Amino acid sequence: MRRTKIVATLGPATSSEQSMRELIRAGVNVVRINFSHGSADDHRKSVNSLRKVAAQENRVIGILGDLQGPKIRVSNFVNDAIELKKGDAFTLDIDLDENAGDQNAVGCTYRELPNDISVGSVLVLDDGRIVLETTEIDGGKIHTKVLVGGKLSNRKGINLRGGGLSAAAITEKDREDLKLAVELDIDYLGVSFPRDAADLNHARKLLNDHGSNAGIVAKIERAEAVAAIDEILEVTDVIMVARGDLGVEIGDPQLPAVQKELINKARTANKVVITATQMMESMVTSPIPTRAEVFDVANAVLDGTDAVMLSAETAVGKFPDRAVTAMSRICEEAEKQPRAMESQHRLHTHFDHIDESIAMASMYAANHLDVKAIGALTETGSTALWMSRISSSIPIYAVTMNADTQTRVTLYRGVYPVPFDVRLESSYEANQIVVKKLVEQQRVEDGDLVIITKGDMFGVASGTNSMKIVRVGDWINGPVLAAE
Ligand code: PGA
Ligand code: MN
Repeated sequence: MRRTKIVATLGPATSSEQSMRELIRAGVNVVRINFSHGSADDHRKSVNSLRKVAAQENRVIGILGDLQGPKIRVSNFVNDAIELKKGDAFTLDIDLDENAGDQNAVGCTYRELPNDISVGSVLVLDDGRIVLETTEIDGGKIHTKVLVGGKLSNRKGINLRGGGLSAAAITEKDREDLKLAVELDIDYLGVSFPRDAADLNHARKLLNDHGSNAGIVAKIERAEAVAAIDEILEVTDVIMVARGDLGVEIGDPQLPAVQKELINKARTANKVVITATQMMESMVTSPIPTRAEVFDVANAVLDGTDAVMLSAETAVGKFPDRAVTAMSRICEEAEKQPRAMESQHRLHTHFDHIDESIAMASMYAANHLDVKAIGALTETGSTALWMSRISSSIPIYAVTMNADTQTRVTLYRGVYPVPFDVRLESSYEANQIVVKKLVEQQRVEDGDLVIITKGDMFGVASGTNSMKIVRVGDWINGPVLAAE
């Protein structure tokens, strides 16, 4: 059973219920709604369809709503795309009509751009495919010379090499999209281009103001954010190694080391991490991945990522469900490497909470005894989160009635939601019921050892204070003995 989670971005290629069903059957755990594209009604429709299909398929699927942030883009071309050649003159014009782009000039979505750059500034378009050097700034017109040419199509991104754009992380459009995200009751909110912890606190406050407690995903895609990673990890729930924009800003040779460092830091801080962008890029048009892509996904798993993400592959690609299937198989194989199961995690740290200590003790026992499964009876999912920071091959079942927690844990590596209500049961019976449930779902069988963690009172946050090791078999049908 795969531990690494798969996030798939929905888009035109996956807007029908049938295509969502195929994604889910192929093993998607979380879908990303990308607010950079599509209308509010498109997103409403996607989320409704997704929830309907997930329920039909009896699967718990998380939803990540991803804000556009101050992403700078070219506007549209009359003929949807142009071909730029090295040495060409080309102009970005903030005053040009948004559909009037041609071979000479195109509009741009960020009105401050001419003020944020100077002659000589290098602009990188479409995740690095096209490079322009600024030759002259004339009011709203940025004249450039093409250093690296290629096809440029509608709404492709623009980055400034080296960073330093002044835009705030949450734009006017993001505020509207955030309201929509709350209306749609999403599980995670992606914040694009945050510079520091303050940007994320701001997003959290807006969510809270609208009555949502969705998790925050800090997308690390600016040079500034890498430098501020420690303070960002203190306030966020999840980080995304957003390799597309990040690579353009800091330079792609820097990416592998930064990815490893970010994943490592996230896990150490008990936070969750998604590795994103171009993981299976060739599968936008090809039914099989390249060898380099196979290695990339496997390496992210070995680095310890919770989740791997698909963007264009599932949003606009020709083979969305095949991309998920291929990614899933690569993850499963990579997880069999001894390195993916062993842990040095928090060997020498002091624990601050009782539930945290129970989680650590359980994983230590599970990894050293022949345990088949862990059932964590949890309200907020925090016990399961702590457990999943430790590398292991043993599945962690988050048993909870809390619907938000069920969808929240879809992103945690090695954690699987089991929607179930044990609140009315005595402690001993609750253990039996959980084990029976795992047997029923064919997750464990007679003779297997199972660890169960729970608190004295169900439905209480941070209440986990006990760990029990039981053997599946007669015990689950046995008489009610004295409570432990
Ligand atoms: P995006 O973010 O797909 O929203 O651009 C991810 C990245 O930049 O890698
Ligand atoms: Mn990005």
